[in-house]
Amino acid sequence: MSSEEILHQDFIRTIIDEDLKSGKHDKIVTRFPPEPNGYLHIGHAKSICLNFGISKEHADARCHLRFDDTNPSKEEQEYVNAIQEDVRWLGFDWGEHLYYASDYFDRIYEYAEHLIQQGKAFVCDLSAAEMREYRGTLTEAGKNSPFRERSPEENLDLFRRMRDGEFADGSRVLRAKIDMSSGNINMRDPVLYRILRASHHRTGDKWCIYPMYDFTHPISDAQEGITHSLCTLEFADHRPLYDWTLDNLPAPCHPRQIEFARLNLNYTVVSKRKLLQLVNDGFVSGWNDPRMPTISGIRRRGYPAAAIRSFCDKIGIAKNESTVDVALLEHCVREELNETAPRVMGVLEPLKVVITNFPENKELELSAQNHPQKPELGTRPLHFTRELYIEKSDFMEEPPNKFFRLGPGREVRFRYAFFITCNEVIKDESTGEVIELRCTYDPETLGGSAPDGRKVKGTIHWVSANHSVKAEVRLYDRLFTEENPGADKEGADFKSFVNPESLTILTDCCVENSLNTADPGSQFQFERQGYFCVDQLDSKPNALVFNRTVTLRDTWAKVQNR
Ligand code: ATP
Ligand code: MG
Repeated sequence: MSSEEILHQDFIRTIIDEDLKSGKHDKIVTRFPPEPNGYLHIGHAKSICLNFGISKEHADARCHLRFDDTNPSKEEQEYVNAIQEDVRWLGFDWGEHLYYASDYFDRIYEYAEHLIQQGKAFVCDLSAAEMREYRGTLTEAGKNSPFRERSPEENLDLFRRMRDGEFADGSRVLRAKIDMSSGNINMRDPVLYRILRASHHRTGDKWCIYPMYDFTHPISDAQEGITHSLCTLEFADHRPLYDWTLDNLPAPCHPRQIEFARLNLNYTVVSKRKLLQLVNDGFVSGWNDPRMPTISGIRRRGYPAAAIRSFCDKIGIAKNESTVDVALLEHCVREELNETAPRVMGVLEPLKVVITNFPENKELELSAQNHPQKPELGTRPLHFTRELYIEKSDFMEEPPNKFFRLGPGREVRFRYAFFITCNEVIKDESTGEVIELRCTYDPETLGGSAPDGRKVKGTIHWVSANHSVKAEVRLYDRLFTEENPGADKEGADFKSFVNPESLTILTDCCVENSLNTADPGSQFQFERQGYFCVDQLDSKPNALVFNRTVTLRDTWAKVQNR
């Protein structure tokens, strides 16, 4: 096991270890069961890393990918494909164990008939509104449905006719016969099957009745021999129904459901329903917009899979709900990219510099390190020419005390090159904007020091005008201005907190020539700026597009603390 895979011991892993030790199980089987009604998000990554992570930690163990596809009206093949791509990208593999709850529709149907025959399920004709009324409340017991005492024969006949399409959508349901006075509302004769004429992405029009999630899930788990069915806390109240279902069916085994806290992340939302609204209402360009907390969004943004796994490891698994600071996720991304991303120079907002003592048709080949902390990653050539670009923000006409970069009459070091002195500032006559600096270089200073021992306080990045290419750079900020946009604040819709400045597009950037042929998705540190990746969809040679993955330091925290 590599150091990256040594995970914290949590209460779920402790239970699993005990079950192996006691001989309750000799082989662990987990599953990740997404509903294909949207793209996976960072919250799902937590569940994926837990379920697939556990399966990697034990010889013989496995983790299934199962599509929980019982709601045909919201599900699509597009989502099925995207989910598989995302799980694989995160570094996990289900091998042959790809399943669909819809594969079990025949079995689930048989089991429903079994319950009917045992007198444990009945067909109910109450309308949805009546059902609500009969259900009672948290403080008040429910009332038995007037259809509860139908005979097994009548129920079987009605249920088969439901299946055969004799009744209208919503006109009848099959319900479990449990206890209308239970303190747990999920146990008050829950619905097991409903009539729904909708084409299913796999079973087409074969069925016009579909099993409910709470009935489908335990049966699917048992069918697959799952040992530990891990889910989020909101299912704790459903556990008695999960157990009741398996206790009352001739199921091949009875997996143990264990709940853990879901991941909540600040400044974003982790709910497919809400993310779908952002997509449909045009707040973002799609599920894979780099501002989205979806796996496909953060992948396009340049977050490495290893950083997501490390994040999930760091937050751990617990039983109490909490909200994780997105700064921790960004920290994991920086930590990973600091190791892996080669360094280059890119100027986001260029200001022209003319080196007046350097001839026009000359160029000097210098050498730059690809990763100053990792000499083994080698060097690349860098060309020094008469015309260069530096960052606008690295020059100030009237620099305040602690500004150690360029100003009139000041000298700084150009990274991997010479000491440069600014002698003249050229301005646009009409706007007064600084448009060019006329500077001189000291050819004696290439190694970073001057023979006379004089020092400079600042080092700035630059590119040669002749040896750089134009690029578009997309800068991203938090998608929401509110820390908890999902909370209902005086009825305000979460979309009203979308950050209008979450995307800034810079179109005039200049990057080192060599980046023109970089592969889509490849990642770099632009020295002094942050980590950037070549956009997978929109970037082309000579029309480069970079996404800023993350800044070098947490600039947001600084703004907040001001
Ligand atoms: P959403 O509310 O975004 O639709 P969901 O729970 O309905 O999420 P599913 O596709 O049913 O989405 O989830 C698949 C698995 O991922 C489930 O086991 C679920 O518990 C888990 N999961 C979903 N969201 C989170 C989260 N925020 N943190 C941890 N696990 C999650
Ligand atoms: Mg769900």
